[in-house]
Amino acid sequence: MTKAQPLTRHIISINDLTNKEIETIFEVAQGFLKELADEHIPYRIARSSGLASKSILASLFYEPSTRTRLSFESAMLRLGGATITSADPAVSSAAKGESLADTIRVISNYADIVVIRHPRDGAARLAAEYAQVPVINGGDGAHEHPTQTLCDLFTLRSKNKNLRNMKVAISGDLKGSRTIHSFVYALARFGATIDPLPAPGMELPAHVDRRLREEFHSRMVSKDSAPSESGRIDALYVTADQPHQLSLYAEPEIDYGVLQKKIDAVYVTRFQKERWTEKDRPYPKIDAKFLGEPKYAEASVMHPLPRVNELDASLDSDRRAIYFQQASYGVPVRMALISLLLHLHKNNSLHKFAGGFAKPNYPLYAQPIGTGIACTNPNCITCDPAESQYAAHKFYVIDGQAGQRLRCVYCESDIDEVVTARFAVGDTVRKTFLPGLSALTRAPAERLRHFVIHRSEAEAAAAGFAPRESGAGKVRAG
Ligand code: ASP
Repeated sequence: MTKAQPLTRHIISINDLTNKEIETIFEVAQGFLKELADEHIPYRIARSSGLASKSILASLFYEPSTRTRLSFESAMLRLGGATITSADPAVSSAAKGESLADTIRVISNYADIVVIRHPRDGAARLAAEYAQVPVINGGDGAHEHPTQTLCDLFTLRSKNKNLRNMKVAISGDLKGSRTIHSFVYALARFGATIDPLPAPGMELPAHVDRRLREEFHSRMVSKDSAPSESGRIDALYVTADQPHQLSLYAEPEIDYGVLQKKIDAVYVTRFQKERWTEKDRPYPKIDAKFLGEPKYAEASVMHPLPRVNELDASLDSDRRAIYFQQASYGVPVRMALISLLLHLHKNNSLHKFAGGFAKPNYPLYAQPIGTGIACTNPNCITCDPAESQYAAHKFYVIDGQAGQRLRCVYCESDIDEVVTARFAVGDTVRKTFLPGLSALTRAPAERLRHFVIHRSEAEAAAAGFAPRESGAGKVRAG
């Protein structure tokens, strides 16, 4: 009898990990720290444990990085493994026009695990689809940066901060910062309250806000009864005080005491200038004056780094500043993640928790490559001409509070501007279409491959599909 192969897990989103798996990663990371502390050596210059001596990590970086790449490589070296690196797309075959899909298929044969960073949202998920080895997302566009969140949570844990009752202010570019997107999902899942302090025009993206409320049981609760000076109602995301199992739209039990609670941590982010066309915009600065407000008296100050001007250097000696410690945890946390994904711990393997965080079971619709509606996020990897032969336009069909909508499987943004009634699903065999999306959720699975989604009935008609009435009891599109 052949032995079952351990499962290949990819960590693309923080939601690919259950809360329990995150705890497992922290226990393992803590073990690496303890092991070294026993030897009275700072863990930053620790010796290798030899655990990964037969493995190679490939870093595939298409965007600048200091901490993520070097801490992954340091982590692998400290585990006794080896590393290979492609850190400059200008000198790799990307410059010749090679697709990510092809690159990753090749690298899968050179390494046992890959960490990727890419400027396009959803690139890591596409890479994972074409990889034969575990892929870790080291930051993909403005989408997510799950391992940064692991470092952030581990840092808070090291300060004995209990996530369930924490109140965390998040400041700056909440739209363009991928670190924020992974972080807010985790905070909500662990039951923390989120206090958004966005720079003007840089609020959380609509799809992130929607997921917090619809999937993670967060509720917007106004901080004050009056709107702020900007006219905006300042509100907190307060998470339900209940066991965190997903059930859509359950009314959570809110602990209103949180409104009076002081801030436990301020998470500062820089202006993500590489993701904005307008480079000169008003931006909040976190300094001693800002932190002088009584509600920040015990607030830890965090930053994923690099900082530019948004976090005053004079705070470095403030007892509340923990950002360098946060960066230093990159090594043990990534040692833990690599060794778990490679199944190097006898009892603690991530493959035992195959499903990731319990996501609602949305129907998935994969259109044949080159057909139907495309993701409307222009920075999505599926909109990259180099990937056009490899990236199908795939969507989850979500029954949201405002009706059915589509979520791109790769960049996870919603097709926002198209209201439900305007979608149309065409049947490529019968050359007919039905308005709306219900054909996707009602038709038998074997018929789905014949369907293409159009943005509107007019578009379906222009593509040669004829309208078809959806009479009662009829479940087939077209
Ligand atoms: N280093 C983090 C990232 O790659 C934060 C940042 O660049 O602002 O997303």
